[in-house]
Amino acid sequence: MRSGKWDERFLQLAEHVASWSKDPSTQVGAVIVRPDRTIASVGFNGFPRGVPDKPEWLADRQKKNLITIHAEQNAILNTRDQSLAGYTIYTTFHPCAACASKIVQAGITRVVCWFHEHPDRWAESFDLAQELFRNRGVEFLLVVDEPIENDWLLERQELEDFERSEFDERL
Ligand SMILES: [Zn+2]
Repeated sequence: MRSGKWDERFLQLAEHVASWSKDPSTQVGAVIVRPDRTIASVGFNGFPRGVPDKPEWLADRQKKNLITIHAEQNAILNTRDQSLAGYTIYTTFHPCAACASKIVQAGITRVVCWFHEHPDRWAESFDLAQELFRNRGVEFLLVVDEPIENDWLLERQELEDFERSEFDERL
């Protein structure tokens, strides 16, 4: 299922949701969509609901990471639907391994995310996330901002073939 127009719309919505995050360094948004293209849930990265956004916690990466709930996990926690089987999740950043395992567990079968360059420290987690998706047959699409070879949406493998060499050089 490659409905580019709808994928683009929901990614743009996820981008908007990301702007609600108060995290000073990384704002990530996620939108979970039902098979009939209605919205089941949204989420952004942040502290648990009601916990104050203390500047000293936000400034301390280690403390911040320990208590921050990622956008994907918030979106999964926020939904009132009993099952997310067959749903799609849109994210503005590559899901980490911890989020990927929850995405798989929730029964989500399609993951669409913006392609961004990421720091090396995330590479291992992202590889593991992709392995999880592959193992469970979760469709995974990385979307690039600009059309490449007239194809707005690229399968991960296509993108890798195209980008890998350049991408590695830039890091
Ligand atoms: Zn995550």
